[in-house]
Amino acid sequence: MKRVLIIGGGSGATFLANTLDRRQFETTVVSASVLHMFQPGLLYIAFKNAPAGITRAERRLLPRHVHFVQQDVTHVNLREHRVRTQAGMELTYDEVVLATGVQTAAARIPGLEEVNAQFGDYHSTIEQAQKVWRHLAEVRGGTIVIGQGAAICKCPPSPLEGVLLAEEFLRERGLKSRTKLVYFTPYPRPYAAEGINDIVAPILQARGIEVRTFFDLDRVDTANRTIYSIEGEQIPYDLALIVPPFIGAPITYEPAEVLDEDRLIITDKFSLRVKGVESAFAIGDATNLPTSKAGVGAHLEAKVVAQALAAKPARFDGRTHCPMDLAYGKGTFVIGSYAAPTVKYAPSRLNHWMKAAMARVYWISLRGWLDPLFDVYFRLTAPEKLAARKAHRLRPAA
Ligand SMILES: Cc1cc2nc3c(=O)[nH]c(=O)nc-3n(C[C@H](O)[C@H](O)[C@H](O)COP(=O)(O)OP(=O)(O)OC[C@H]3O[C@@H](n4cnc5c(N)ncnc54)[C@H](O)[C@@H]3O)c2cc1C
Repeated sequence: MKRVLIIGGGSGATFLANTLDRRQFETTVVSASVLHMFQPGLLYIAFKNAPAGITRAERRLLPRHVHFVQQDVTHVNLREHRVRTQAGMELTYDEVVLATGVQTAAARIPGLEEVNAQFGDYHSTIEQAQKVWRHLAEVRGGTIVIGQGAAICKCPPSPLEGVLLAEEFLRERGLKSRTKLVYFTPYPRPYAAEGINDIVAPILQARGIEVRTFFDLDRVDTANRTIYSIEGEQIPYDLALIVPPFIGAPITYEPAEVLDEDRLIITDKFSLRVKGVESAFAIGDATNLPTSKAGVGAHLEAKVVAQALAAKPARFDGRTHCPMDLAYGKGTFVIGSYAAPTVKYAPSRLNHWMKAAMARVYWISLRGWLDPLFDVYFRLTAPEKLAARKAHRLRPAA
């Protein structure tokens, strides 16, 4: 029986643990937290005052035969197959899967910790997201700035979703004429991928949201309530909601070269094996894969690793399928893969409904029970297929 150790207890880790065959593997999940959070829920706590019940006990999301250990992993020796925790526990394995996600790193930008402590953020904790809502609910006018603090972002649509939901909120409260809404991004356009940008840029313009592109966040001067870019641009604010930079978990690896400068695990984009290491895989946000950091990606990568562990052919195609809330009950999906550029996917009420439905089915999806349905849906919405269908529609009649 092969001993598989999964480090992390989030989307990727939990789904993988549920997928591995109990007759073939002795599976252990080690996570720093006893709780599992449905992170997309933070957006709705922050901008819609949604209920805070977005966590479940990780143990209850795992099958009984899977061992669950709540420990903070501090050292992973990939050469000797040994893992050490903060409490001094030592774990060994035959195969390890690293699924430790990313964490916010506001300290990387001067003034950002302070401004996020004041106004909250919607990428870390429930308390921080509730703080965002409290400040938003107090707005009576002035300048609200929402922005992406670094290029790497957990759930790339989420900074824009924040500004779109904030605009909807201000309009509903009759505060639009007294409030200026500014969005900043380090990218050359509001959304980095062109297909989605074609949809979002006109929406931002129509809703009167000022967009500042190429804005590389340098520092926040909280005394003067001003945000500065590296290029010397300034944005004054009354309320600032800034998505912080993200970095990998504070774990020491042997060899240390498996990590990049953001502590992301250097991972082969097809096999999902950790660079230069036998018997080690990495999935989800923790990797340096050139795909969106999204739960959907973690799920699809876990499927590939499950196949590889079972010695079956396995190759990740870079598939992304991330829902994006455009506010006013409409949504789109960010759909792409390594081979296919992001599709221009028309906004609809159905897309919005599907995003909302995910909040309900998320916990069941971790069990793998919905995968036959997902498989069909993902096949029907393969980016190559969608692009071909669109090209067919656009072809002039002979
Ligand atoms: C506002 C917001 C909106 C989002 N919307 C969407 C969406 O609509 N669709 C979508 O697909 N995704 C969305 N996401 C992204 C999605 O939540 C993440 O991409 C997903 O959770 C990543 O899964 P993961 O398994 O890689 O990491 P995580 O789910 O973050 O899990 C990481 C796990 O590692 C554990 N861990 C960390 N460090 C250690 C350590 N040292 N020792 C032991 N355990 C450790 C943690 O306890 C945690 O259990 C959103 C995220 C946010 C914040």
